[in-house]
Amino acid sequence: MRKKIVAGNWKMNCNREEAFSLATEVAGMVNDELNGDVRVILAPPFVHVAAVSQIVKNTNVKVAAQNCATEAQGAYTGEISASMLKTVGAEYVIIGHSERRHYFNESASELTAKTNQALEQGLIPIFCVGETLPQRESNQQEKVVASQLTEALFHLAADAFSKLVIAYEPVWAIGTGKTASSAQAQEMHFFIRKHIGSKYGEQLAAGITILYGGSCNENNAKELFSMPDVDGGLIGGASLKSRSFVNIAKSF
Ligand code: PEP
Repeated sequence: MRKKIVAGNWKMNCNREEAFSLATEVAGMVNDELNGDVRVILAPPFVHVAAVSQIVKNTNVKVAAQNCATEAQGAYTGEISASMLKTVGAEYVIIGHSERRHYFNESASELTAKTNQALEQGLIPIFCVGETLPQRESNQQEKVVASQLTEALFHLAADAFSKLVIAYEPVWAIGTGKTASSAQAQEMHFFIRKHIGSKYGEQLAAGITILYGGSCNENNAKELFSMPDVDGGLIGGASLKSRSFVNIAKSF
């Protein structure tokens, strides 16, 4: 079902003490200042998932991992499986972030395998799509995002697809300070919903939560979140400051 979500992707930031303080502060503010309408999610690095899950236990804050393995278990040195994440308290997992696609060459078939693993273990994938600057400049954004969705996800049965959260993150807006305008975000979110509808039907598409990500902050969140097809945000840089992050979550 469609939800308002604000998720903080901490990326490769925060040592143990910093992670502890950030999670504690966010959980306290969310408890005091938000009424439960908005789902707040923290995505710390793997090593902090268990501790952050303990800190936010019994609050309205949920935990995501930033990635998971393509396989369930076995001889895959350095990998972390979806089931391990589930047992230490994660409920969501980010899959297909542009940094993973770019720096780690993650392919559509790997993203399919990760999504399958997550769903099998009862984790909700936050599946990221988005075009690069050259792709936007040559007006390819719809084609690119459509094929990212189709190739990695359209094998799923409707029931499984309906569990996903999609994050539209134009690569040119991530960590650059250049936000998509609210009109650009709405146009792409509307397109994503339509594309999902073309495969799974309008009713299912209407229930999918679609987040915007890319230099979203406490100054621009309200306008972005006021768009009819923007259901919240995946927040990078601004999620590392508890006050800014919670202000974003209060921007609906
Ligand atoms: C992200 O990495 O998902 C992201 C949206 O980063 P930032 O908010 O820093 O642009």
